Amino acid sequence: MSSTPKQTPMMAQYQKIKDQYPDAFLFYRLGDFYEMFNEDAVKGSQLLELTLTTRSHSAKNPIPMCGVPHKAVQNYIDILVDQGYKVAICEQMEDPKLAKGMVKREVIQLVTPGTQTDTGAAGAKRNNYLTALIMPQPDHYGLAYTDLSTGELKVAAIDNLTTVMNELMSLQTKEVVVDASVPTDLTDRLKKLGLLVSQQLAVQPSSEVSYVEQDLTDPRLIQVVGLLVTYVTVTQKRSLAHLQRALAYRPTAFLKFDHSSQVNLELTQNLRTKKKSGTLLWLLDETKTAMGGRLLKQWLDRPLIDRAQIEDRQAKVGALLDHYFERNSLQDELVKVYDLERLAGRVAFGSVNGRDLIQLQTSLEQVPQIKHTLEELDEAVFDPMLDQLDPVSDVAAAIRAAIVPEPPLSVTDGGVIRDGYNDQLDTYRDAMRNGKKWLAEMEAHEREVTGINNLKIGYNHVFGYYIEVTKVNLNKLPADRYERKQTLANAERFSTPELKEKERLILEAEEKSVALEYQLFVDLREQVKQAITRLQTLAAAIASLDVLQSFAVVSEDYHFVKPTFTPDHVLDIQQGRHPVVEKVLGRQSYVPNDVTMPDDTNILLITGPNMSGKSTYMRQLALTVIIAQMGCFVPAEKAQMPIFDQIFTRIGAADDLISGQSTFMVEMQEANRALSQATANSLILFDEIGRGTATYDGMALAQAIVEYVHNKVHAKTLFSTHYHELTALDTVLPQLKNVHVGAVEQDGDLVFLHQVQPGPADKSYGIHVAKLAGMPDSLLHRADVILQELEQQAAAAPTVTKAVITGQETAAVAPVTAPVNPPAGPASAAPEPTVTAPEPAATDATV
Ligand code: ADP
Repeated sequence: MSSTPKQTPMMAQYQKIKDQYPDAFLFYRLGDFYEMFNEDAVKGSQLLELTLTTRSHSAKNPIPMCGVPHKAVQNYIDILVDQGYKVAICEQMEDPKLAKGMVKREVIQLVTPGTQTDTGAAGAKRNNYLTALIMPQPDHYGLAYTDLSTGELKVAAIDNLTTVMNELMSLQTKEVVVDASVPTDLTDRLKKLGLLVSQQLAVQPSSEVSYVEQDLTDPRLIQVVGLLVTYVTVTQKRSLAHLQRALAYRPTAFLKFDHSSQVNLELTQNLRTKKKSGTLLWLLDETKTAMGGRLLKQWLDRPLIDRAQIEDRQAKVGALLDHYFERNSLQDELVKVYDLERLAGRVAFGSVNGRDLIQLQTSLEQVPQIKHTLEELDEAVFDPMLDQLDPVSDVAAAIRAAIVPEPPLSVTDGGVIRDGYNDQLDTYRDAMRNGKKWLAEMEAHEREVTGINNLKIGYNHVFGYYIEVTKVNLNKLPADRYERKQTLANAERFSTPELKEKERLILEAEEKSVALEYQLFVDLREQVKQAITRLQTLAAAIASLDVLQSFAVVSEDYHFVKPTFTPDHVLDIQQGRHPVVEKVLGRQSYVPNDVTMPDDTNILLITGPNMSGKSTYMRQLALTVIIAQMGCFVPAEKAQMPIFDQIFTRIGAADDLISGQSTFMVEMQEANRALSQATANSLILFDEIGRGTATYDGMALAQAIVEYVHNKVHAKTLFSTHYHELTALDTVLPQLKNVHVGAVEQDGDLVFLHQVQPGPADKSYGIHVAKLAGMPDSLLHRADVILQELEQQAAAAPTVTKAVITGQETAAVAPVTAPVNPPAGPASAAPEPTVTAPEPAATDATV
C-alpha cells in the first residue's frame, strides 16, 4: 500500500521504512509492542494466530494491524523465520518521552532463515548456513557460505551446476543470496527446491561495521565473499568480529557423492521419518559437545580422499582406542565444555550475558585438564593438537575476577559483577547495603536529641525519605534543621540536610552501580572479543578431538577394525556389516558378509530373491567406504580397499514400485550421471536398474549398462538384478563375477539366510515371496503353472545375445538366455511379452 494523502506522520514513517524491506515482515516498535500493518498484518495474523484489528477506525480505509508484545517477540520471529520468511526489526531509537516530534525509528536487524543465530537447543548440533552464489560467466560459479553463529566462512569456485546443486543440498542451506549475474531460470530452480532466494540488497553497509580483510586471489572468490559479507553486514547491523577469514576449498578434494546418494544411503536423514535416528550420523555420533556434533556432520558430508589425512585421523582414533582410561576422562572433561564457537559468536554480536561468560570460563578451565590427559596418552600424533589447545587463560582469569559465579540473565539490572572488582562499584554498593544501617542509626540519634521516642524514619515514592513526628510531639522539635515536607492527619513529616544527603547517596548509588556494572561488563566483553580468533582455534581443536573420541567409542562399541588402503584396486572386506541395520537388529541377528573384488574384478552381479539382503549388502559397502574415508574404523573383521574418488548410487526408494515413467526417467538420469562421471577409482551401486520398464526393454538396458561399465568405466560396481539371464555374462565379461544372496526352501516356505555366496542364484523365488506376503493359494498355483509354461517355451527357443567385449568391435556370442529374443539395442521398441509373462514388478512383493 503506497502513501495516501491523509497519511498520519507515523504511518508515513512506517511506509518509508517498509519500502526498504518489501520482502520482509516489518515489526514496528510502538511502546511495548511490535506492530504490523497492512498486508504484513493480514498475513502475519494468520501465520502467528494473532487478532487482526485496525488502526483509525473512523477513517474510510482502516489500516489492518496486529501486534506482538516486545517481551515475547523472539518466539514470533522464530516462527516466521522457520517458515522461510524474513523479519525486519524496527526499534525506537530515542526515548519517546524525550523525543521532539516523531520518535526516530530504525531497522536494527533483518532476521532471515540463513542469518538466524538463535536456533535453540534443537539446533546445537546443526550448522545454519547462509550461501551466496554468483555466475559471472556461463558455467563459472562462485559459491560462499557462512554460519553466522560460529563465524565459519568458506568459498569455492565451481565449474558445473551439478556440483553447485550438490553443495547447496549437502549444506542444507535455507537461503541463497544471489546477485544479478545469476539468471532467473536458475533462481527459479532454487526456489523450486524450497530455498529462499535473496537478492543483493540495495541498502549499503554502514561504515561502522567492519569485517575481516580477506586474502583471496580468484576474482570470483573475492566477488562472492563480498556479496555474502555485504549481505550479512547489511542485515545484521552488528559487529561481525567473529567472522573468520574465508577459507577457499575445492569440492573435488573430497569423496564426492550426490545428494540423492546422501538421501538414499540415509547418511544424515532417515528416509521415512526425515529424522536423524536410524542414520549413519546417528550411529557415529558419540560426541560430547555441540561443536563436535556439527563437525561430525561436516566430516560426513565431506569424507577425505587424501591418504595421509585419513591415516592421521585413523592414528588418533587408534591411540584413543588403546587408552581406555584416558579416553574416559577426556569424555568427562569434554562434557563440561560449552559451545565455544557460538559463545564466541555471541561475544562478537554483543549479545552475550553473564551466564554465557561463566560458561566460557568453565569451558576454558577444562582445557588444561584436557591437555594433560592428551599428554598422558604420549602419542606423537596428537602433538599438533596440543599446540592448538591454548587455554586462553587470560580470558578465563578476567571473567573469574569480574563475574559472580551465578549471574542473573539480564546484564542491565546489576548483580553481575563481583565485590572487590572495582572500587567505585564497591562504594556504591556500600551505600546501598549500608543505607538501612545508616537510617537506623540516624533514627536512634534523632530520638535521643529530640527526646521523641516514637520518631521514625520512613520512605515513600513521592517525598522520598522523611522523619515522621506525631502532632502531640511537634513541640519537642527544635525549629532549626527540620524542613516540613508533608502534613498528615495526626503527624508531620520532615527532612533534614543530613537525611537529604543520605537519601541522595542511597538512591544514586543504586542507579549508578547498575550503570557502572553494565559498563564494566561491556569492557570485559570487549576484552574477550580481542581473543575471538584464539577462542575459535581452540574450539576447532576441541571439536575435532571430540569427533575422534566419538570414532573411538563407536569403533570399540561396535567392533570396528582399522581399514588399510591399497594403491591398486583391491577391495577385500571380510565379515562386513551394515552398521545401522546391525545396530537396529542386534549384533546376534545380523549376518556378516564378505566383499571380495581383487584387482581384476570390477563388477559383482548380485542375484537373489527379494528381501534376501541385496540392497543391504550394497549399502553396506558404500557406508563402509564413507566411514573409512572419514578416518574412522569400519564394521568388518578385516578391510582392505582403494581410496575412492566418487560414489554413485542408483538405489530404489520404496516408492519406486508404484511410480511410473517419471521415476524410470530419474533412474536413467542417475545411471547416466554415474556412467558419464565415474572413473576407475569410483564406486557404483546399481540396484535393479531397468526394472521400471517392460521386461526386455529393461533387461536390454541392464545388460548394455553392465557392458558399458565393464568396458569403458572400470569402476568398482555392485549390480543387483532380477534378470537371471544376465548371470551368463560372467563367461564373456572377465571382470564380472556372480554372487547371490542365499535362501533355502523349507516345507515350501522360503528362509532368508542373508548370506552372500559366489555364483548366481538358481531361482528367483518371486512366487515364494508372494506366498510369504499372503497371496491366495489359487493365485500362487496359477503363477506356478504360468512359470512352467514360460520356462518350457524358453527352453524350446534358446536365444543368444551379443555381448561386446573390451576393446573388441566384433561381437562375441554370449550364452545369455531369455524366454524370447530381446531387442538388439536399448533404443528399439521392446516387443511386449504376453499378458501372462512374469513381469519383474509382479514379484516385487514385500514381506
Ligand atoms: P533386497 O534388496 O534383497 O530386497 P534388503 O537388502 O532390502 O533385500 O533386505 C531386506 C531385509 O532383510 C532388511 O530390511 C534387513 O532387515 C534384512 N537383512 C538384510 N541383510 C541382512 C543381513 N546381512 N543380516 C540380517 N538381516 C539382513
